[in-house]
Amino acid sequence: MDTVKILGVPFSKMTLSDTVKLLQARLAGERKPMFHLITANPEIVMAAKQEPQLQAIVNAADLITPDGIGVVLAAKWQGVLIPERVTGFDLLTRLLEGAKTKGFSLYVVGADEETNAKAASIIVDKYPGVEIVGRHNGYYKGEQEEALVADIERKQPDLLIVALGAPNAEKWIYKHKSRLKAKVAFGVGGSLDVIAGKVKRAPVIWQKLNVEWLYRLLKQPSRWRRQLVLPKFALTILTTKRR
Ligand code: UDP
Repeated sequence: MDTVKILGVPFSKMTLSDTVKLLQARLAGERKPMFHLITANPEIVMAAKQEPQLQAIVNAADLITPDGIGVVLAAKWQGVLIPERVTGFDLLTRLLEGAKTKGFSLYVVGADEETNAKAASIIVDKYPGVEIVGRHNGYYKGEQEEALVADIERKQPDLLIVALGAPNAEKWIYKHKSRLKAKVAFGVGGSLDVIAGKVKRAPVIWQKLNVEWLYRLLKQPSRWRRQLVLPKFALTILTTKRR
């Protein structure tokens, strides 16, 4: 796999379309050890630098895509072209759309109960090729986790999506990897909230101008604390190159 390392994290240089094709091939193929995809933004890169456990999870991932303009720009600064952002939401949407011709089964974990149920029902209505074999909200008590993992193990979905926020979803998938028995799994951030209509994704023009992060900050000002890491990421990239 052709990758570029940004602060120790090997990012894929594939386009969104090529990444979708790769995932579709895995979904249509044999049930091998689960393919763990991480769509990583600068927050995850910085967190991995601080947390050896997260670094180990990132190292073990099968594919890491650039989810954030900061990653694309950091690669450019190193003289490497990453063609575009490859976000969890876009991957999920393309896979769901592709199910018209290549159907697959899906298990949906995460978000609050109402959002999870609504997103699942919208997916079923809108994408007939997708069979939802199970779903569970992301606000459960610790002792309920075993039953949830056992259910996924039994249902063997082709695709498992986990909306527990980053990097919790990545940690959750890694922790249960040997039992999940899905073909492909990835964290999808706030995608269920968007599908259910609880949160609006930034309009395309904001995405095209690479300021989706600003849109999210304006809509959910409580995110400012999390986004403080962005200038730190930029500074680290700039000084690392000089060194
Ligand atoms: N979430 C959850 N359980 C938790 C914390 C968060 O299910 O204990 C869900 C939350 O409801 C939302 C998603 O995780 O649907 C996180 O969305 P966010 O936009 O914050 O994603 P991130 O940017 O962290 O990937």
